[in-house]
Amino acid sequence: MTKPSLLILPGDGIGPEVMVQVRKIISWFGNYKGLDFDISEDLVGGAAYDAHGIPLHDETMAKAQEVDAVLLGAVGGPKYDTLDFSLKPERGLLRLRKEMDLFANLRPAQCFDALADFSSLKKNVVSGLDIMIVRESTSGVYFGEPRGIFEEGNERFGINTQRYTESEIDRVARNAFELARRRNNKVCSMEKANVMESGVLWREIVQKVHDEDYPDVELSHMYADAGAMQLCRWPKQFDVIVTDNLFGDLLSDAAAMLTGSLGMLPSATLGHVMANGRPKAMYEPVHGSAPDIAGQGKANPIACILSFAMALRYSFDCGAEADLLEGAVQKVLASGMRTADLMGPEGGIPISTSDMGDAIIAALG
Ligand code: NAD
Repeated sequence: MTKPSLLILPGDGIGPEVMVQVRKIISWFGNYKGLDFDISEDLVGGAAYDAHGIPLHDETMAKAQEVDAVLLGAVGGPKYDTLDFSLKPERGLLRLRKEMDLFANLRPAQCFDALADFSSLKKNVVSGLDIMIVRESTSGVYFGEPRGIFEEGNERFGINTQRYTESEIDRVARNAFELARRRNNKVCSMEKANVMESGVLWREIVQKVHDEDYPDVELSHMYADAGAMQLCRWPKQFDVIVTDNLFGDLLSDAAAMLTGSLGMLPSATLGHVMANGRPKAMYEPVHGSAPDIAGQGKANPIACILSFAMALRYSFDCGAEADLLEGAVQKVLASGMRTADLMGPEGGIPISTSDMGDAIIAALG
């Protein structure tokens, strides 16, 4: 049997530092759980620019298309700020997302009990929270034509176009229903069908996909503005939320911050299911390259480690192993160990990136 393949792209700044911790965890799963990956590592972002003069080499792109999953650290840094737009580190990331056609961005908002005090909401509102926002990520108002700034008479006007085809809505809805079946079997679809035609079509197609193929999943619809309010009022009412690119951008950032630090937030972006039954997939922490702390051993590796847990669950069908890894993170946090970004007002001595990786490995067993 061929081994599942993983392309690791550490990137820039704290990306390589947090990825070292993930490599240690992958080795642990190899040694103690018999999980054997075919791993390759390559450059992306500023690191690729330094080596090749471009933020993503064609060979790396080709590799990303072949593997079962890509795990990325972070890209960017002040050193590259003056580069031409087409050469900026972020272009490497955008090229990966575009050419792999990764249309469903999964952003979990999960509150670890030990960090419930970090939320701006009351502890009982966020404690135990575990929701997933599925954001359509390759279409909608960020991509629709016409767009631009034009002139009419003696005034300029700006245009962006919200455009969704039936098939674009269909595929992301299926993704959300499939996810819900692996979780608590509930989907809430959010749009603005009261004022936008694209929202009317969105609601109709999501309902049709549900009725035809996923009648076992509980489906509700909500206007996105009311959804934002409900997310702050009582977020635990949700399981999976599916929404478009624009509303998803806003709602996923708001939901993620219910749970605390940027150093804790993983993400996945999924595309079409390949011949081997696995979706095209890229996993990455939500945070950037954090140049202010890069090279100092201060970075929190948990977002990247939890991104690998998502890869275990969604690309490699290793749900039990993903649970084990998330449980180990939970245990370490409950024991009081914290990287600097997780220190509360009461203070204490933070542990290093590497010590956090070691503590999670120790907690794995
Ligand atoms: P950032 O996420 O890198 O940092 C924001 C703040 O959060 C900083 O104070 C940083 O120290 C802290 N932080 C972030 N991750 C942390 C972690 N794991 N542990 C502890 N603290 C952490 O965002 P920024 O400062 O706006 O951007 C820095 C660079 O990263 C820019 O070049 C930006 O373009 C790039 N960026 C890349 C991605 C990506 O690769 N997906 C995402 C966002 C920003």
